[in-house]
Amino acid sequence: MDFELSEEQQQIREEVRRFAENEIKPVATEYDVDEKFPFEVLEAATEMGLNGASIPIEYGGADYSALETAIIVEELFAADPGIALSLTATAFGSDALIEYGTEEQKERFLEPVATGEAIMGAAISEPDTGSDVSSVSTSAEKDGDEWVINGNKMWITNGSVGDYFVAMCETDPDAEGRYNGFSQIVIESDRDGFKSEKITGKLGIRASDTAELIFDDVRVPEDNLVGTRGMGFLQLMQFFDITRTMVAAQGVGIAKGANERALEYAKEREQFGRPIGDFQAIQHKLADMHTQTEAARQLTYKSAWSVENDDDQLTTLASMAKEYASRVAVDCANEAVQIHGGSGYVNDFDVERLYRDAKITQIYEGTSEIQKNVIARELMDKGF
Ligand SMILES: Cc1cc2nc3c(=O)[nH]c(=O)nc-3n(C[C@H](O)[C@H](O)[C@H](O)COP(=O)(O)OP(=O)(O)OC[C@H]3O[C@@H](n4cnc5c(N)ncnc54)[C@H](O)[C@@H]3O)c2cc1C
Repeated sequence: MDFELSEEQQQIREEVRRFAENEIKPVATEYDVDEKFPFEVLEAATEMGLNGASIPIEYGGADYSALETAIIVEELFAADPGIALSLTATAFGSDALIEYGTEEQKERFLEPVATGEAIMGAAISEPDTGSDVSSVSTSAEKDGDEWVINGNKMWITNGSVGDYFVAMCETDPDAEGRYNGFSQIVIESDRDGFKSEKITGKLGIRASDTAELIFDDVRVPEDNLVGTRGMGFLQLMQFFDITRTMVAAQGVGIAKGANERALEYAKEREQFGRPIGDFQAIQHKLADMHTQTEAARQLTYKSAWSVENDDDQLTTLASMAKEYASRVAVDCANEAVQIHGGSGYVNDFDVERLYRDAKITQIYEGTSEIQKNVIARELMDKGF
């Protein structure tokens, strides 16, 4: 076993941390209050080559490993989760194209994202379909050499700023078997009949764009179907192991950000003639927060390692990491607010924002309840 990061991995961490300090932290409150997408920060991130971290080099990406991507996600989320999600989700949905896309699709859709010219998204959830992905009702019907798409997608990250979305559609409603009959189809936002409505008033990650997508007889070429017709559900499931590992890394980042701010405040704030960090009650909070975060980090890194090494336990580990790290994020952000007292309740310090932002990690990419269902199912099927 080797717990040490390579020199290159340490360097990536240092560079991203510096970027987050200089480019994200100073503007985080502004983007949160205004609920606006951080185009300017994205431009700086593109210059630094942070776009398309997992896109292969031949399509202009950095082709970072899962562990390297987790390190980047952790550092960005420690600075500000709303901006961090905006930067790291520009290639959301690209996994399907990388794995199953044709050469032409890869050039058309991956390259512009890697070079910062386009933003993409993954459109799965619908107003009536969240945890139960097999109930997707957005339909895609074949008409000549085109797909005609009708339906609504809900809560779509980058929904009103994205150029195209890999959408889960029902293409073969008569297919036998609950998980068959769905396909992943790329839908461009400039097609006739495509409409998006930005969702405002979110509890947290307010810099990140979220929207409802409405498809009203949207026509796309048949070549926009990714992979195998009817196998979209099963294709999508392949990527949850990696995307859930990345949400775990988001949780670790948020916890780390909360812990750092709490530790600093505990050393500076004085009551009863001494720093509050002198009180054992505060020390124990800090000890618990850092211990839980390190445990969440190791679980997340092991899950990332398993992505690279095709480990048999990957699905279990990814759900364990996602469920645990998101819980730690919520707990640490809560304790960080507590350590800040009244100052933690207003947006003068970042912890109020982290407290609001943390919650989403327990909801998207499968809720905590769904993660526990997955862990239990895997345990019953093959043990651990
Ligand atoms: C800010 C934000 C961004 C998002 N981005 C995207 C995106 O880019 N693309 C996308 O497709 N989706 C996105 N989502 C949607 C997200 O993935 C869903 O909200 C999530 O999967 C939960 O679905 P739901 O909201 O319909 O809740 P529901 O599925 O209705 O769940 C409600 C409650 O019931 C529980 N529950 C449901 N089924 C079970 C069960 N079998 N066992 C135990 N408990 C259960 C859930 O855990 C939850 O507590 C986003 C959501 C938000 C809020």
